[in-house]
Amino acid sequence: MKLRSCRNRLSINLIFLQRPRNTLIKSAAGVAEVAGSSAKEVSVKEYKRADLHMHSIFSDGVLTPEELAKKAYDNGVELISLTDHDETAGLERMKDAASELGMDFVTGCEVSTDFAHVPIHIVGLNFDQKNEALQNLLKDIRAKRFNRALKMAEKFEELGLHGALEGAREQAANSMLLARPHFADWLVKIGKAEDRQDAFRKWVGTGKPAYVPRETTPIAAAVRAISDAGGIPVLAHPGRYPLKRWAFDEMFAQFTAAGGKAFEVTTGSHKLGQAEIHAKMAEKLGFWVSTGSDFHFEGSPAQLGLQGDLPSNLDPVWRHFS
Ligand code: AMP
Ligand code: FE
Ligand code: FE
Ligand code: ZN
Repeated sequence: MKLRSCRNRLSINLIFLQRPRNTLIKSAAGVAEVAGSSAKEVSVKEYKRADLHMHSIFSDGVLTPEELAKKAYDNGVELISLTDHDETAGLERMKDAASELGMDFVTGCEVSTDFAHVPIHIVGLNFDQKNEALQNLLKDIRAKRFNRALKMAEKFEELGLHGALEGAREQAANSMLLARPHFADWLVKIGKAEDRQDAFRKWVGTGKPAYVPRETTPIAAAVRAISDAGGIPVLAHPGRYPLKRWAFDEMFAQFTAAGGKAFEVTTGSHKLGQAEIHAKMAEKLGFWVSTGSDFHFEGSPAQLGLQGDLPSNLDPVWRHFS
């Protein structure tokens, strides 16, 4: 695991004894009884608080990696990742900032995929960021984003709002990665919306006048690329997708068929009660669980690290980083 040591935190080393039929037994380090010859020891670290989903100026967030790291640290975060949309350019800065503060860090990215015209976000964690196939996939998705931005600008022209592309680029620190929030910020600046939320409601939300869908990317492409790069693919905020039960099941089947084994339970993008539903689902399915604020800016639903800690009966994704 590409983790750094940390201070002031609960650091229990657990030993997992892997028995036949994949039964895992937890035991305190050093007093484990080895049950049978097939037992395998894996030492893992436990964290009281983690934030494995957030956005910086490298995508549609407003803070730098350093600012995010500091705020997360102040809120008690011990393990952090940066998960910009389709972009890994901020990871080195986040890694250094985390290290300086004594937080553990893993690589991250939130990959934009699609199912039945609904955007599905797959968070990749602890992958090799130099992996060529993964970087090629991200490059391809960024190109699709840019094409969509051009089409959205055309729509704004038709709607009588000029200069949308330049306007959105001015709002984006990374002008090669344009997301709808950058258009939203431009709309606020020119007085056509009150805030991001209002801009989504009036202009850029699904089905609104300036909405253009991205060219699609299959869920399986992201899941496989992240896994092949040594990472863990995590279905982001499973409670947020506007899918009927049967359609959700179909989407989830694609995720698992491609090798997905983890989803987020506590996230700033879940509404009240959704964490509990997904905690039960994880327990029932034996899925690994992740947690993250999905912080973009001060007005985001959860502040850094304060999205709710994971219930202790669940199996956090960091136990499976290797
Ligand atoms: P995009 O990836 O360009 O389609 O933009 C999606 C991003 O827009 C999400 O990751 C959120 O950051 C943001 N977003 C989506 N829906 C809303 C909303 N209703 N209000 C504000 N921001 C939103
Ligand atoms: Fe976003
Ligand atoms: Fe997301
Ligand atoms: Zn996100």
